Amino acid sequence: MADVTLFGAAHEVTGSCYLVEIEPSRFLVDCGLFQGPRRLERLNSIPPSLQSKRLDAVFLTHGHLDHCGRLPMLYKSGFRGPVYATQGTIDISKLILRDAAKIQSDDARRETAKRTRMGEAPVEPLFTLADVERVCTLFQPVEYDQTRELLPDLSVRFVEAGHILGSASIIFEYSESTQKKTVVFSGDLGQWNIPILRDPAYIETADVVFMESTYGDRDHRSLAATIEEFEHLIESAIASKGKILIPTFAVGRAQQVLYHLSQMFRQKKVPHFPIYLDSPMAIAATELYLKHVALMDEEASRLSQSGELKRSLHGLVPCATADESMALNSIEGPCLILAGAGMCNAGRILHHLRHNLGNHKTVVLIVGFQPKGTLGRMLLEGAEEVKIHGKLIPVNATIKSLGGFSAHAGQSDLLRWIRPMAQQKAQLYLCHGENNPIACLSKKLADEFALEAAAPHLGERISI
Ligand SMILES: [Zn+2]
Repeated sequence: MADVTLFGAAHEVTGSCYLVEIEPSRFLVDCGLFQGPRRLERLNSIPPSLQSKRLDAVFLTHGHLDHCGRLPMLYKSGFRGPVYATQGTIDISKLILRDAAKIQSDDARRETAKRTRMGEAPVEPLFTLADVERVCTLFQPVEYDQTRELLPDLSVRFVEAGHILGSASIIFEYSESTQKKTVVFSGDLGQWNIPILRDPAYIETADVVFMESTYGDRDHRSLAATIEEFEHLIESAIASKGKILIPTFAVGRAQQVLYHLSQMFRQKKVPHFPIYLDSPMAIAATELYLKHVALMDEEASRLSQSGELKRSLHGLVPCATADESMALNSIEGPCLILAGAGMCNAGRILHHLRHNLGNHKTVVLIVGFQPKGTLGRMLLEGAEEVKIHGKLIPVNATIKSLGGFSAHAGQSDLLRWIRPMAQQKAQLYLCHGENNPIACLSKKLADEFALEAAAPHLGERISI
């Protein structure tokens, strides 16, 4: 008997958490936080069925918060088993969980102050830094492509997913009666042929697959076209001495953008000009990427080891402190500032936007998905003025979206990844996607492989 129950990322893209029960084992694949609207954040708990029964282990696909963010809560609920992950994922998870604990504590303090004024009870953060440090002692590193026996009839293997540093798809093999069975969890999949990361690995055999479907409805703009547009925007900003602001996610996207810039400088496509990495977390994540040269693709690892990567980015200035960040207000362009948060909903990018959106020489480059209701989305939709820190700011800057830097596979790459398994008529479950992408991808799978995919709901238990 084998069952999988979804405790997140069912018909939406956050909170990834699968309970896998393969007699006599009981373990989780991912234990992520729900993020976004309040309706989802309210789901951030450890379900009773995970607390009441023995849980043997957790297997992490990668270190993004929506895949590892409920781990500290799992520890608080009594879990003391191993958390298996690649070393890259362990390093990224620690960075992201510590940052999340700080945000949780700050938010709880602010909310408590507000409630105290109204005579209401204080709120507790979901977890603290101390909870994070405790759960981090449970991490156990695994190597890519090595089969690990968990029980005589159950083994696990992590393979490259090409999404962020350390990301993996996870393959479990087990015996049922006398039959061998394989169940695959895709984790988040990256695009083929993007720099720094290795391509996702093809998995040849599977009986059951749980696949992400974030961009199941579309392909991204090509990387070549994206880079070309990026170059033109930089050229015109240099000519007009403007500032280029890039709201960026600290892990993954920031490193991709820096890599493309290094390439432009090396190939002398644009002259050197100052670049400010204004995010302590992005600075730390960049160091982690450089530490794990073995996880890079061939070209990135050659450039990193020969020192060419650092040489071509000699104009890069890390801004760790708030003072260093504030000093950027008084500098003249041309320059490029990378700062968080990626959705312009918080962080240092807000200060830069407040100071520079009114200037027609400023260019704001949006490189990631901007959900409805975020400042980033309003800018993209052509708002003429926006409110930042309670002040109305006119938007005279140029706002551009660069579509090709996504860390997620587009529709064609998802189909490319699933092809070998689809041809074997694996049982397929689409997760980690909203309704429309799931519907589009299901139709494609039916047309191309005559495969009927299911899309399980939250809390649904599937017999595999
Ligand atoms: Zn991810």
